[in-house]
Parts: sequence; C-alpha cells; structure tokens
Amino acid sequence: MNQSWRQHAACRGLDPEIFYPASDEEAGAAKAVCALCSVEESCLEFALSAREREGVWGGATERERRRIIRQRRRTA
Ligand code: SF4
Repeated sequence: MNQSWRQHAACRGLDPEIFYPASDEEAGAAKAVCALCSVEESCLEFALSAREREGVWGGATERERRRIIRQRRRTA
C-alpha cells in the first residue's frame, strides 16, 4: 500500500502520546489534530486495512474503527 500520505501527516513531529490516549474520552486532542489533517481519509483507510489495534488514526479510536469495520461488513 502506498504510504506517501504519511509525508503530509499533521501529526508529524507531535508527541505520539497524544495519539495513544488511555480511553476514548481522552482522545479529543488527537481527534482535533486529525480533523485538520489533509490525509485523514488515507490514514483511516490504512489503519482499517492494517487492523491497527491501538491509537487514534484518521480521527478514529480503536473502538470506532472496529465499529466502522462491522458496519462495512454488514453493508458489503
Ligand atoms: S489523520 Fe491524524 S493520525 Fe492520521 S496522519 Fe493525520 S493527524 Fe496523523
């Protein structure tokens, strides 16, 4: 999978800990960065296809990504 989108990641150079909150409720800071990121969609699709288990990717927490995967399975 082409990962050139990473070069445009708004989270580059930021403290990675922001993107690994202890709970979904604490994911606000990471989501705020993702919301302004020009590659949010590519990032989310990467995380979904790679089954990333931890962290906020593409503005979605692990739980939210699991929900997206379930929804896509239902509509496939
Ligand atoms: S969507 Fe969020 S986690 Fe993904 S590259 Fe952008 S800022 Fe980083």
